[in-house]
Amino acid sequence: IEQTAYQNDKLAMLGKISAAIAHEIRNPLTAIRGFIQLLRPHLIQLGRDEYARIILTEIDRANDIIYEFLNSSKPTAPQKTVMSITSLLKEVVLLTESEALMKGCEIHLKEADTVMNVSIDVKQIKQVLLNMIKNAMDAIEEVEGDHAGVIDIHVKPEGRYVNVTIRDNGNGMDKALLARLFDPFFTTKEKGTGLGLSVSYRIIKNHRGHIHVDSVKGAGTVFVIALPLVI
Ligand code: ADP
Repeated sequence: IEQTAYQNDKLAMLGKISAAIAHEIRNPLTAIRGFIQLLRPHLIQLGRDEYARIILTEIDRANDIIYEFLNSSKPTAPQKTVMSITSLLKEVVLLTESEALMKGCEIHLKEADTVMNVSIDVKQIKQVLLNMIKNAMDAIEEVEGDHAGVIDIHVKPEGRYVNVTIRDNGNGMDKALLARLFDPFFTTKEKGTGLGLSVSYRIIKNHRGHIHVDSVKGAGTVFVIALPLVI
């Protein structure tokens, strides 16, 4: 699946709009957050700490969304560092493990014996991997009943590339959904932005890599990210 010029334009336009308004929304949010913190002791006295907690989490969520929009706005050239893809994966798994555990799913990272170096913008590739693992967790949560969720991650060299495979046994996708996967704003989630994969796609393209996806409705999904190896 290739991202079209139309999809690219949509991202570029989103960028301009979000850069213009992000600043204006962030400042009042920061003020609201500060004052809620100040009010918190009073709310606790009234037995209403729950309200403060909800306000704070929702403000943080709004901030995260703005951040995500802003991020997608900047098609910045990758700031490249040469590093081992395995060590980056280890770090990403460490970051997601506790959330996965809470959601009742396991993350297995199968390491390769060889050292595979890639030249990457660490922040950007981390964002892509975190997003994919988060999507996998969400897909697992969608499965009804007592479901043992598993996310398998492995790395393998393939010619001049390294393939990072992320496989989940979540709810999977049908053909119609797969076709819209990389559309900016396309989401099936109540609290989704639909930006994760369109931004990931652009990041991987900027790294001269590829994303492949395969999915079976009701069975699970496999994402493969191919990045050029540094030899
Ligand atoms: P968001 O997560 O905000 O919805 P994304 O661009 O990351 O945005 O994903 C778009 C949509 O693709 C999701 O709403 C979901 O329907 C689908 N999707 C992505 N990853 C998976 C996955 N691993 N399993 C099932 N569906 C997925």
